[in-house]
Formats: sequence, structure tokens, C-alpha cells
Amino acid sequence: MPPVPSFDPVSVRAAFPILAAGAVPGMNGRRIHYLDNAASSQTPRPVLDALIRFETAERANVHRGVHRLAEAATAAFEGARAKVARHLNVTEQTIVFTSGTTMAINVVAGAFGDTLSAGDEIVISELEHHGNIVPWHLLARRRGVVVKALPVTAEGLIETAALERVVTKRCRLIALAHVSNVTGAVLDLAPVRAAAGAVGAQLLLDGAQRTPHGPVDLPALGCDFYAFSGHKMFAPHGIGVLWARPELLEAMPPFLGGGGMIERVTLTETSFARPPRRFEAGTPPIGPAIGLGAAVDWIAGIDWAAATEHEKQLTQRMLDGLAAIKGLRVIGPTGLQGRIGVVSFVLDGAHPHDVAQVLDAHDVACRGGHHCAQPLHERFGVNGSTRASLAPYNDAEDVDALLGGIADAVAKLA
Ligand code: PLP
Repeated sequence: MPPVPSFDPVSVRAAFPILAAGAVPGMNGRRIHYLDNAASSQTPRPVLDALIRFETAERANVHRGVHRLAEAATAAFEGARAKVARHLNVTEQTIVFTSGTTMAINVVAGAFGDTLSAGDEIVISELEHHGNIVPWHLLARRRGVVVKALPVTAEGLIETAALERVVTKRCRLIALAHVSNVTGAVLDLAPVRAAAGAVGAQLLLDGAQRTPHGPVDLPALGCDFYAFSGHKMFAPHGIGVLWARPELLEAMPPFLGGGGMIERVTLTETSFARPPRRFEAGTPPIGPAIGLGAAVDWIAGIDWAAATEHEKQLTQRMLDGLAAIKGLRVIGPTGLQGRIGVVSFVLDGAHPHDVAQVLDAHDVACRGGHHCAQPLHERFGVNGSTRASLAPYNDAEDVDALLGGIADAVAKLA
């Protein structure tokens, strides 16, 4: 029976052992205010239980042995694929397990990219994570494709008005963040879809920052490729997903070669398995994949309308508090419209690493730096920023601890 979704912030929080008072060594019984969810979220008990079950009762390699453990491991691994597929409203055959978003995008650059010719164009944007920039630069070196970028507005949104100018008939792929990992801005998909459709380009969405905020109905998005990481959505590190339209997966050559992705190998030739296994060379991250299956089950048990409202209230509390601090500038939308609870800011005269260190002294975990988005920070004329990012287990105490820590950082650093 599927769970009946509900949302009670206190019991949600209680499912995460690391968030309990005294759980983190050296904190003298205090609790951590974890606001670095955009880097990696925390892991709830049901996911930890699934990992322990696999490691203690099912552990073996998959798709190889015929003994009972091998069969149990294969069933659990493929069961996880089925859960992820259901979560995204797509078929199991279109779910390729990877090590994360970065690897998923590299698979597209390596496999789909191999079908491109010199002079073909790939359009990204100024706000992309390096994971959605560097694979295209490498492809440009290998195949002579041209990488172009959409600009970003002063509010930290991709400037879709520039699509008409930037997307030409040579464009074969538009690859954009579904949600920015710095500004929290949600992509305005309709004009992007229209621009891709007008020139017959494929559309890749980097969903790393979207998937932690509730289920995604992939067919409704109308994209061709979707990439995300487990560790940002309550699952273990080392697992991610590339989804692609079935025709694309069938047509693409493999990217990496090895065991598990073949149909037959002779000393001179290899024929390849059908997708998704064609793109899963070598032993996959079995335990982490099972953990991802448990994570999407956990996500399915959350009432996301209520969780999103909770996140909005906390984001507003954060934005109001930040707006009251002199010398502080938010990089991204200053209101709730078109954004999620990822908020980056710059404090005049203070290095983001120093700000993050002062915050740590207040038991607040935040990220300071360029967040693997150097072009975006350059766009705003800064080397880095401090980022606070929310998950459903955060509460007003976390936000108030952040604001108190920033007041201290202003006193000490600015
Ligand atoms: N894309 C976005 C938008 C991200 O936020 C991240 C990670 O922060 C990545 C890609 C890379 O994810 P991973 O390091 O899990 O491959």
C-alpha cells in the first residue's frame, strides 16, 4: 500500500538521526542547523535501514550470479530502478543509474555528443553548475562543437528573451539547470521548449536542485534528457540518474565500456546490451541505488503542497531577515516568485569562507564559495557568495540561527 502523504515538520525532522541534539560529535548536546542541503541533503532512517538491510542480508553483485544473495541483490537493485521510474512517471528502461548528475551529463556529452559534428551548437546559460559546462567544453575540444550561453538577468534568472538570438538552426542541444544551485531560480520552461522545438534541438534539464523538492512528472516537462543526484534528495552519495527519451537511448552509442553493458564480446568485437544497461558499464553503485529507491518512497510519503508552503514561509523569513542587514546583497530573486529555498548572498567586505566559518561557530552549516558556478559569480562581479539552502526538515530556529550568525559576521568581518 502506498503511504498516505502527510507533512509534520517535527516528525519529518525526527526521521533524520543526524539532526537530533547531540548527534554531531563536539557540539556538547546542541543540534546542528543544517542549511547546506543544496550541496548534500541528510538521510532519513528508512533510507539508512534499506542500506543496512542490503549490506547485512542481501549483499552481492548484480546481474551476474545465480546464488540466492545474487538474486536478492539483483531484485533489490532492479526494484529500486522501478521505484525511481514510478516516481518520475516513466518506464524502467529509461532510467540509467549513474554516479550523480555530473556523470549523467557526461554520459550525454560522451554518447549523444559523439553524434554531433564540428560547428553544431550547444546552448547552456551563465548560471550553470560546472557539471553542466565543463562536459560541453570537453566535447567542443573533441568534436569542434560550439558552446553558447544564455545571459542571466539582474534577478538571477536565465534570460529567456535571449533565446531567439542565441538558439540558431545549428543548435543540437539546449542544456539548462531546472533550478539554479545559486539563485534558487526555477527555469521558465515554456519558451525554452518552444525554442528547442523550433530548431529540432534536444533539451537537457539538470534537475540536481529540483528533485529534492518533490516528485517530478518527467513527461509533463517535455524535455529529452534529465539528470539528477541521489545525495541531494535524501539518498546516499554515489548514485544518480540519467533519464532520456527511449528513442534517444536506443540510438545512442555507449559512453563507457566494460562488464554489464554488453550482449556479446569476442577478441575483436563487442555488441552492446539494450538501454539502460548499455550505459551502466562495470559494477553499479548497488547499495546507493537501493538507498535511492528508499528515498523516493520516503519522498512519496510527504505532502509536498504542505512541505512547499513550509519552505516558502522559511524562505520568506530568511529573505526578510537578509533584507534588513546593511551591506548584504542577495544574488537572485528577492521575492518568493519563481524560486525555491536556495538563497545566496554577499556581505560587503567579508569573504564568503569567513562568513561560513562564523556561521559554523553558531552551529549553522552553510556553503561559502563559488558553488561550482564561477561564470555566474563573475556575472555578478564577485568571487563567491554564502549560500543557505532549505530542506523539509528545516524550521524557523534554523533560519533564526542563520540570521543571528550573520549579524555576528557583520560585527566581526564587515
Ligand atoms: N548541477 C547542479 C545544479 C548542482 O547543484 C550540482 C551539485 O551541486 C551538480 C550539477 C553536480 O552534482 P554532483 O556533484 O552530484 O554530480
